[in-house]
Parts: sequence; C-alpha cells; structure tokens
Amino acid sequence: MNSLDPRTIIFLSGVMAGLMSLVLFFLQRNFPPSIKGLGEWAVSPLLLLGAAFLSGMHNHLPPLVTVVIPFVLAVACVSAAYLGSQRFFGLTPARRRWLILLPLSAAAAYWSTLVEPDFRVRAMLLTLLLGSIYALHARLVYRHGPRTFSTWLCLFTLLCAILIQVLRFAAAWDSPRDTSIFDPTSAHLVFLAPAAIVFQLLCISLILMASERLRLEFQHLATHDPLTNAFTRRHMDEVVEQELARCRRHGRAMSLLIMDLDHFKHVNDIHGHQVGDQVLVQFVAQVKTLLRQPDQLGRFGGEEFLLLLPETSLEAALQVAERIRAALAQSPEEPRCTLSIGVTTNRHDTDTLGTLLARADKALYRAKENGRNRVEFA
Ligand code: GH3
Ligand code: MG
Ligand code: MG
Repeated sequence: MNSLDPRTIIFLSGVMAGLMSLVLFFLQRNFPPSIKGLGEWAVSPLLLLGAAFLSGMHNHLPPLVTVVIPFVLAVACVSAAYLGSQRFFGLTPARRRWLILLPLSAAAAYWSTLVEPDFRVRAMLLTLLLGSIYALHARLVYRHGPRTFSTWLCLFTLLCAILIQVLRFAAAWDSPRDTSIFDPTSAHLVFLAPAAIVFQLLCISLILMASERLRLEFQHLATHDPLTNAFTRRHMDEVVEQELARCRRHGRAMSLLIMDLDHFKHVNDIHGHQVGDQVLVQFVAQVKTLLRQPDQLGRFGGEEFLLLLPETSLEAALQVAERIRAALAQSPEEPRCTLSIGVTTNRHDTDTLGTLLARADKALYRAKENGRNRVEFA
C-alpha cells in the first residue's frame, strides 16, 4: 500500500474531476433548460479539483490553505452534487440551509487543524459530513429516480461512497493525532483512490441520468402533440399498424374512430384562435376521461382526432363514439362545440392503415352530410 503516492492520486483525481466538470458544463450549455441541476453538477467536480489542487500544495502553503479550505471545498463538492440532483428531480433546494453548513464546516476544520490540531477529529468530522450528505443524496435518488440503469448506477456509487466514509471514520478512530493523508504509513491512504474512482463514477452516472432524461424528452416531443398532448399522427400510424398486425395474428377485433369538431372555423372566427386552441385542449382532456387504459387518442391534424380502440368490436366502438359525442354536446363549457365521428373496424385480412382510414373518413363524411353532431360507421 505504501507504494501508492498520495500526491499522484490527488493530482489524477483532480484532473479527472476537471474533465467531468467540463463535460457537465458542456451538457448544461447544450441541453434544454427543462433539464435542471446540470450547473450544480458541473460545479461539484470543479470544487473537488480546487480541493485536490490546494491539498497537493501541502509542502508549500500554510495548513489554512492546504487543509482547512480543501475540507470546506470537499463538503461543498458533495453538497453541490446533492443540490443538483434535487433540482434535477424538480425539487427546490433549501440553499440557505446549505450555505450555513459551509461556515460551520470551516469553523470545525479550522479548530481541528490550527487551534487543537487533531487529525482524528478532523477526519471523523469530514467523513461524518460527507457520509451524511451522500446518504441524503442516495435517499433522494432512490425516491425520485426512474428504475433505470443510470439510477441504479448512481445509487450504487452513492452507497460505495457512504461505505468508504464509514470505513474511513472507523480508521480515523485508531489513528494517531498527528498523522495526515500524506503520511505514507497512514491507514487513510487506502481510501484516497477508491473515493476518487467512486466520485468519477458518480459524475458518469449523473451524465447518464441527464442523457436519459433528454432522450425521454425527445421521445415525448416526437410522440405527443405540443398543444393538446394527444399522440402525434406519426405515433398513431405506428400503433394502428402494430394493432392491425396483432389482430391479424390472433383473429381479434379493433376499431378506429376519426373525430372532427363541427364548424370549428366559426369558433376561431367568433372567439379568436386562442380560444379555439383552448377548446382543442379541453376536448382532448375530456375525451381522455372517457377512455380505457389501452385506448390511444391522437391528433390527426387541425381539429381532427384519431382514436384507436384495441380489442373492440364495431358495436362496442359505436357505444364509445356515442358516449364521446353526447359528452361533448352536453358539456357546459363555452364556447359550445359538437362533434362528428366516423367509425370503422378491421374486417378483412387485407386491411391496412390506409383502408381503415379511408373507411373511417368515409363514415365521417357521411356524418357531416347527415347534419353533423352524429356518429356514422363504414
Ligand atoms: P366542419 O364541420 O365541416 O368540420 O367545419 P370546420 O369549420 O370544422 O372545418 P374546416 O376544415 O373548414 O375548418 C377547420 C378549422 O380548424 C380551420 C382552422 O383554422 C382550424 N384549426 C386547425 N388547426 C387549429 C389549431 O391548432 N388551433 C385553432 N385554434 N384552430 C385550428
Ligand atoms: Mg371540423
Ligand atoms: Mg376537419
């Protein structure tokens, strides 16, 4: 163990932390602002770099700079990572409470370094602080993180970090008062490299968590209409094709509805486009309350919507359509709006998305022809 040079380990962990900080700052600049916490995550390894740089100067600068300030920077480093995660998961960090922690840890470090120099007290205080903040962080990630690889990796690294602090605390108990991490016989030397590796791994897991969030946001954008939050036309095309294939394989029924708001142009002309938008949003919200979990509602374009009802016969689909039509016609919401619906079901083995849409469209056209505010099938 004595062959490990603490200065080299500290230097390398500082360099690695600097690189992690660069990557996280880059992500913060380029990721959408809806992904929060990246700034704090980027600052965290930067603080570690500062701590590593200053403690590496222990032969050249006074202990205030090489021991007390790195102590505070280490506490600030793990706190910043925790605050970043709080923001990442949509919580508002109590910044003031954390700002109080820094002068308190500075006072503790100052006392145990310059007033009553005692390595054991200092190491135990530091490990207690770091271990507690890592534990809070682990609890936060466990409670709020989605059950994905990056969350598990983050939890794993946080648990390793806690374990290292616990072991270091125990080692500090038996240490002489006047040792230091630069003492080649110190038991603390053994914790330096694992702590540095675990911190890099923590940064990597945070980067993965942010990338995963970005992927989910893009996926949501590609599959959801921004105004109404119904599915997009492209997503509906895919799910209808999939459902058709499933029905063909298992000989099951499915139904497809095209719904078109009646005289919607009048709504816009009389009340303005913004009210028209609001009507579309309310319409989707109202229809969703009338659907089963597997049903899929998409915006076909403008004021036209597509509804896929898996495992649904024509009779059942007509009942659903009538329920939706009646709910809208009886809705007290202003401006009043009615709905025409064309219904179809899979009938032939040769049915495709195109033939289903054509039949539903034909039925819708008939509903319009027959006076609107009605349901027709084809
Ligand atoms: P019909 O009963 O025959 O369906 O009459 P309509 O007026 O609903 O149909 P038409 O196709 O003539 O007009 C559709 C209107 O829907 C015109 C367009 O301005 C409006 N529209 C389409 N997309 C949006 C949107 O995103 N927001 C708002 N406010 N209006 C939209
Ligand atoms: Mg219309
Ligand atoms: Mg239309």
